Amino acid sequence: MHSSHQLQWHLARLWTLAIALTVAGCVTSTQKNTRIASTDLQQALRPVNGKTAYAGFDGQHNQFYLGNAFLERRILLSVDGTRLQTISILDKVTGRYSVAQASEEFRFQVANLTFSGTDSLLRYQRYDIVSGLEGSRKLIIWMSYDSVTTESEIDLSPTLNNLFPRPRSSNFNFRLQICYQTYPNQPRIDKWLVFENRSNTPLVLQGIVVESLPILYPYRFQLLTKRTGGHLEIYHSPDLSGQMIALTNQAPGILKFFDVDRQQDTVSVGLGSSTLNHSTKISVFLNQPVKIPTVSCTAGTFMLDQVLGQTVINQRYLKREDLKSYHVLDFELDNLSALTDELSGKAGRRRALFLPVATVGKEFLDRLDWQLSNPTDSTVPIYCLLSEYGFFMVKAVEDLMDRCPLDLLILAGPIFENRNSALLGCDKIEHGHPDRSESIFLTYKWLFNFSLYIRNQYPDVKLGVTAVTYGVDLPDYACWQYFDFFVP
Ligand SMILES: [Zn+2]
Repeated sequence: MHSSHQLQWHLARLWTLAIALTVAGCVTSTQKNTRIASTDLQQALRPVNGKTAYAGFDGQHNQFYLGNAFLERRILLSVDGTRLQTISILDKVTGRYSVAQASEEFRFQVANLTFSGTDSLLRYQRYDIVSGLEGSRKLIIWMSYDSVTTESEIDLSPTLNNLFPRPRSSNFNFRLQICYQTYPNQPRIDKWLVFENRSNTPLVLQGIVVESLPILYPYRFQLLTKRTGGHLEIYHSPDLSGQMIALTNQAPGILKFFDVDRQQDTVSVGLGSSTLNHSTKISVFLNQPVKIPTVSCTAGTFMLDQVLGQTVINQRYLKREDLKSYHVLDFELDNLSALTDELSGKAGRRRALFLPVATVGKEFLDRLDWQLSNPTDSTVPIYCLLSEYGFFMVKAVEDLMDRCPLDLLILAGPIFENRNSALLGCDKIEHGHPDRSESIFLTYKWLFNFSLYIRNQYPDVKLGVTAVTYGVDLPDYACWQYFDFFVP
């Protein structure tokens, strides 16, 4: 098929693309922010006016605080620096506390150890207050885990049989950033975690819960909740009206995990998959910090979608009939050159392409080793976006768009295996990714990086995603951040 010259050219392109995707996918921002060093100064600057977002540390009570005109959250650090717990979330508009007892705050497992805000394994290191865009304030709290056991060192260098070895001893250490952010004009507090591996062995995180909060009500037996899309709404009154708080999980698609414990009146929100017993693994490598998707806490009837505006969101649902003004093409029906010929013959009309993003392989390449690992309900083979297939797919899209510009690119078709209505990832570790549960997290990341890459290369092209591709029937906040349209 390929001459060696062509192959070299392909490899060069792949390398460029790999770098571009890596850069686009970088999780930490290196942008320089104003740092306020003095606690006294923060105290003095606190509520300058009702719209101000603020954050700080109250040394007298050993409490961090952040808030604005609508909400204030207070987080207690134990005197010995081992426990970190939210002790109150005050809705300033109603004067009501949504949380008024100490939280578990977060939870995850590493090497069979469970870490949380209450288990005393982590040690507080320091905090930082950062001023963000448009008057937002970010509070970052660093905690770390340093193993002091002297168990014999186990060789954890990867082998062909075990590409992602896990530490069996507790000879590992890591740093955790617990980040909170508040904005001047929204009744909203965001929270996320960043893991930094400080040991030479990859660490595997499991059971990741970003928020674990006790919810206090006048009547404790009434924990009233409702789930819509990416939101968990929690109500104060039985008729589901009036004041509520909502927790929005910004984890994408099927990775959103909500748990309501009615016995203990607690809610936990994090990263999981309904098909994998709520456990999603994440490997963290040395010097490659991993950010866990944000959970936003909002009060009143404010939902995170309102940041985008409801009218905007309605316009972002795209049905087939909304595509009348487009010349619509399906990639599956054509090979690449035929499609290009067809496109160039349709000048004057806007062009939209449905691209079956993980099943187009047979059109230009047919490599069994790039397919997902197991037979599927689908009649067409699904290719793993994390394998080399992903790079060739991007190249094919680039070739097409360079020769014949599109106005709208809609990612379509399944990207995960569907068996017994459960969506499963890929467990072919020879694709260069860890096991099946982690491949789902990484595949979403791939989609988002693809979106960033296309937006950067082709700023005029609008991007859409179908419900089948995204894995859920309703779009969520993560989806809106990367795609212009959602096709139900
Ligand atoms: Zn794979």
